Amino acid sequence: MFASTMQEGELTIARLVEYSRRVFPEAKVTTWTGTESRDMSFSEVGDKAAQLAHALTELGVTRTDRVATFMWNNNEHQVAYAGVPAMGAVLHTLNLRLSPEQAVFIINQADDRVILVDASVAPLLARYLPGTPNVRHVIVVNGPKEALSAPEGIAVHGFDELIAGRPTTFEWPVLDERDPAVMCYTSGTTGDPKGVVYSHRSIWLHSMQVNSTSGMSLGNSDSVLAIVPMFHVMSWGLPFAAMMAGITLVMPDRFLQPEPLLAIMAAEKPTFAAAVPTIWQGVAARLEAAPQDISHLREVVVGGAAVPPSMIRTFDGYGVPITHAWGMTETSPLGSVSRPPFGVDDPDEAFAYRVTQGRFPPSVQARLIGDDGAELPWDGVSSGELEVRGPWITGAYYSPEGNVSDPSKFHDGWLRTGDVSSISPDGFMTIRDRTKDMIKTGGEWISSVELENTVMSNPTVAEAAVVGVPDEKWDERPFVLAVVKDPADADVARQRAFLFERIPRWQVPERWAFVSEVPKTSVGKFDKKVVRAQYAEGAYEVIDAREA
Ligand code: ADP
Repeated sequence: MFASTMQEGELTIARLVEYSRRVFPEAKVTTWTGTESRDMSFSEVGDKAAQLAHALTELGVTRTDRVATFMWNNNEHQVAYAGVPAMGAVLHTLNLRLSPEQAVFIINQADDRVILVDASVAPLLARYLPGTPNVRHVIVVNGPKEALSAPEGIAVHGFDELIAGRPTTFEWPVLDERDPAVMCYTSGTTGDPKGVVYSHRSIWLHSMQVNSTSGMSLGNSDSVLAIVPMFHVMSWGLPFAAMMAGITLVMPDRFLQPEPLLAIMAAEKPTFAAAVPTIWQGVAARLEAAPQDISHLREVVVGGAAVPPSMIRTFDGYGVPITHAWGMTETSPLGSVSRPPFGVDDPDEAFAYRVTQGRFPPSVQARLIGDDGAELPWDGVSSGELEVRGPWITGAYYSPEGNVSDPSKFHDGWLRTGDVSSISPDGFMTIRDRTKDMIKTGGEWISSVELENTVMSNPTVAEAAVVGVPDEKWDERPFVLAVVKDPADADVARQRAFLFERIPRWQVPERWAFVSEVPKTSVGKFDKKVVRAQYAEGAYEVIDAREA
């Protein structure tokens, strides 16, 4: 038999931890306290990861046991990201903004034994604990352990006291790179949260893609403002990518409003940042009121929801290029990233590429499936459900009885994304909409995303979500829930006049409501489930142009 001569080498998180502490002692994690930052070097992260592993071992944590975090983005969360998977346990990042029912369900389903909690959110966790009988230990971080009052049967520890004095090295177990490392639930935008379990290998390969030039193009000279929460798809992989490449991580902790984010930028001058569009929407509004130079950001990656083209132009004006990316909890999350092809130098031509969701890396295969189940061509026009597969794409959802690949979510080994897309002949993908958000009116489809982008391209509009609502004549019509910058612009006739010049007449919505904020999901996306429900309950003062 003819065989490769290459060695094996397990791609495990322990290797990243040891590598980063030895090779990048100058790189650091730094967390905003409200007025300044507190640093932790990668060497210290490694020391504390080992100490945490010793402490967790003493608390009875063994291989594949779930250790949850209920924490903001901060230094100690990075320690948990390093130590928990390295010791062979599974880090389960709990979303701080779930409903109590969802949080209790997830803690129980994942069978979390230990939870690390930031003192600032301990009272929130305390409300869930009576419903989670299998939790044995809670470790309070960044504050006194008295911040948590727990039911009987749960031991409460202070993080600093618990790890103090323990050895700063740990004999990390030899693991199979396919072993579970991190667990994360989807944020449940379109249904109940579902568990995805990443392996050491999937995280390694994904981190290499995050750092590569076709990904986020990050390296040792970068400092990254990681706004996307560590409880939402591993902060897009940044904590691990940072260990791999010696990237400094600037962590906002709980200071996620535009004003403190801009204060962090002024103090730390990060070279790069990552967050969903609604965050940048807020930052742009704040910059209008209080100008500040943010051109230290050589690039920001924006994804998780469609980036309105008008936002890309706004940030170009600040000297900060936005790179558009697409992904899901199920895809680790990096799927596609939009970088204009080589040779496209004309800004307008490049812009047409930058507004798309971009190209897939070689390890992520993509295909489009039409209504009849047949594969559609990459012609830039045909649109169908996007399906993907690859080594960092989930092949199932977690279930305590055994992982499940339901045919509604998986198709012959491919993940059904639930996103309706088209792909150009040169591989640039454009998301038209989520299947569930497309609006069918009089037999024709309207993309809620495209309509939102057009509504938001009006400079008077701060943000706008569009959902389909029942209509006697057309079955469904679009309804716009908008936030205008000046109350005087809450004028349906003028808003519609703007649209008449830009989209076909039949697409222009009749029903509008103006509010001070569009409801958002736990990870900051427009919450269309809530908008639809509130519309149905009559919660909005709807202005109907047909009655004008
Ligand atoms: P949830 O599914 O709970 O919202 P995810 O963060 O996993 O949580 O969401 C993934 C979905 O977000 C994708 O399926 C897609 O609909 C949407 N999405 C992500 N990035 C983009 C993007 N750049 N443009 C449009 N939609 C996006």
